[in-house]
Amino acid sequence: MRALGAEVRDVEKVDVLITHLHMDHIQGLPFFSPLHDPDIWVDVWGPVSSHQSLQERLNRYLSPPLFPIRIRDLESVAFHDVAPGEFHLDGIQVTADLVSHPGPTLGFRLEEGGRALTYLPDHEPALGAHDFPNDSYWTSGYALARGADVLIHDSQYTDEEYAERLGWGHSSYTHVLGFAGLCEVDRLMTFHHDPGHTDETLDEAHVRLQQAARGFEVIPGTHGAVIEV
Ligand SMILES: [Zn+2]
Ligand SMILES: [Zn+2]
Repeated sequence: MRALGAEVRDVEKVDVLITHLHMDHIQGLPFFSPLHDPDIWVDVWGPVSSHQSLQERLNRYLSPPLFPIRIRDLESVAFHDVAPGEFHLDGIQVTADLVSHPGPTLGFRLEEGGRALTYLPDHEPALGAHDFPNDSYWTSGYALARGADVLIHDSQYTDEEYAERLGWGHSSYTHVLGFAGLCEVDRLMTFHHDPGHTDETLDEAHVRLQQAARGFEVIPGTHGAVIEV
C-alpha cells in the first residue's frame, strides 16, 4: 500500500476494496498516502457486519496505541459497509458476495467493457462443498468467478498442508485448480502464498500448477505484478 500510494498522482478520488478485516488485509491501509492527502478523496469499501460499522471496526486499529492517527482526524475519506450485491465505481460494475472464510468475508467481481476480474484472496471453496469441484450451485464463489478473464485466488497450501488445516479458510493447490476449472476462467493468478513457503518452493509449485492446468493459464502472483484484463 505504501508503494501503491506513491504511484497515485493527479487523481481526485481513489477507491479501496477490502474483502475482510483480518490483519494481513488491513495492515497497509494507514500507510496508503492518499488517506493523508486532503486533495485526494478516498472511498474505502468493506464487508458489512451485524454489530459495528466498517469505520468502527477499522478504528480499533487506526487509533492509539496501535496507530498514532485516528480515523476521525483524516479529512478526505469515507467508509462504506458493503452487503452482498452490486454497486458501481465510475464505469466499473462491482459485484460483492460472501465467500467461505472465517468471519464476514467478501469476494469481488469487477466488470467493465465485457471484461471481468475476480478477487478471492482468502477462500476455501472445498469446505462443506458437495462433490467439490463438480457442483457449481453449491460452490462458494462460483457466481463471482464464473467465466472471469482473470481470477486472483487463494493458493496457500500444498495438499499435504491443507489436510492439517481444514477450515482455516484457505485453498490447496488442487482446490484452486479445481475451482478455476469449474468456473472456466481464462487466467488464474495465484495469490496469498503461505508465508512459510520459500521462493524456491513457490517456483516448483508453479511449474506443477502450470502443467496441471486445463483450459486456463496460471500466472504466479508476485509483488508489484500488473495484469492487463
Ligand atoms: Zn483472512
Ligand atoms: Zn489473508
